Amino acid sequence: MKTADVVIVGAGVLGAAAASRLARDGRRVIVLERGAPGREGTGTTAGNLHMQAVHTLRAGQAVPPAGARLLPLQRAAGDLWETVEEDLGTSVELRRSGGFTVAETEKQVRELHDRRVRETAAGIGTEVLDGDTARAALPLLGPTVAAATWCPLDGYANPLKVTPAYLADAARHGAELAPFTPVTRIARTGGTWRVEAGGRTVVAPVVVDVAGPWLGEIAALAGIGLRMTSVAIQMHATVRSPATLPHLVRHVGESLSVKQVAAGNLLIGDGWPARAMDLTGRSEAGVDSLVGNMALAVRVLPFVRELRLLRMWAGPLAAAPDGMPVIGEVPGAPGFLVAGGAYAFTFAPLWGETLRCLVAGTAPPVDVADLGPGRLMEHAGTRRERC
Ligand SMILES: Cc1cc2nc3c(=O)[nH]c(=O)nc-3n(C[C@H](O)[C@H](O)[C@H](O)COP(=O)(O)OP(=O)(O)OC[C@H]3O[C@@H](n4cnc5c(N)ncnc54)[C@H](O)[C@@H]3O)c2cc1C
Repeated sequence: MKTADVVIVGAGVLGAAAASRLARDGRRVIVLERGAPGREGTGTTAGNLHMQAVHTLRAGQAVPPAGARLLPLQRAAGDLWETVEEDLGTSVELRRSGGFTVAETEKQVRELHDRRVRETAAGIGTEVLDGDTARAALPLLGPTVAAATWCPLDGYANPLKVTPAYLADAARHGAELAPFTPVTRIARTGGTWRVEAGGRTVVAPVVVDVAGPWLGEIAALAGIGLRMTSVAIQMHATVRSPATLPHLVRHVGESLSVKQVAAGNLLIGDGWPARAMDLTGRSEAGVDSLVGNMALAVRVLPFVRELRLLRMWAGPLAAAPDGMPVIGEVPGAPGFLVAGGAYAFTFAPLWGETLRCLVAGTAPPVDVADLGPGRLMEHAGTRRERC
């Protein structure tokens, strides 16, 4: 049996960021990971850093997220991303070369203008360009683009570099990472948490549940019922090509994000549902979403038609019924913290820092009181006792 100050369940980008921040704070941290680190939501993500207002409604989501509430969080996360490479002492292929959100119909153009008001109020500088001005700025845009919002803060970071960089930083500050160590039991005894995983037992006053799509499952091990669901979405990648597209391109009314990564591939996605989700294995990408996503990409960026598709994949992510992130301590379960849900990649540095503050009992960089798990509890804010 081992003791620690904090047990982190899950080594995706959130577990890695939290481990780094908490270890730097002098906490004895153990990260328990069921498989290899950074493979699930974080190993399949598009890796976009979304600074412009995000989507309204997606497959598997009951209601649209409160976009205006997310904007100050996006702004705060964006500020932290600026310091990530210097802070971790390594490149994560961070690129903040800005992005366009395009509109094709009159209604969508009006939506761009409405969003701009909200973005400006949150301190995110955006500019709405008419179609011709947008095409002059990015000649790759197709003739159906009627307007586009430009935001210089949009960006990308390579998720396959970010998570190892955070984990290496955590290890440098004394954290222990236990891969291939699935958590199977969590019990509260004598004011601490007893976590059983892969034949070992760790006792700690704080558990951080950052198990992504399995966040609800891990909470359930501790007798906590949270209304979280999992959805799987898919991505498409072209072969490498010479640097052509310097910016992130999204669509205001349809599911589309396109960017060219450092290696030269175009990554095309944005919430197209996978054919099947298998939380015990790999989710399956399907042809319907491939066709829909690529048709949209070709319409908005006609040059995509010339490229050869290399592969497609699907990945799972955690979704709250209100489409918002969840972060905070579970009411009635002292020391049991959760973090996950919407745009967890964009929010990773912010949630890592916020978890550090919540464990230290200090004010987090942003107010997250309304994003706590209490709103998702199945039993009116109480914890089910398990023996
Ligand atoms: C295809 C796709 C595209 C996306 N695009 C974007 C984007 O462009 N921008 C953005 O901001 N967000 C995006 N997201 C969302 C975001 O990337 C993910 O939600 C985020 O990376 C999830 O990180 P996480 O650490 O919360 O969870 P995960 O990365 O899923 O990690 C959870 C970890 O918990 C582990 N675990 C589960 N059960 C146990 C157990 N019993 N014991 C121990 N460990 C356990 C898992 O093995 C896993 O490693 C995308 C997601 C997907 C799938």
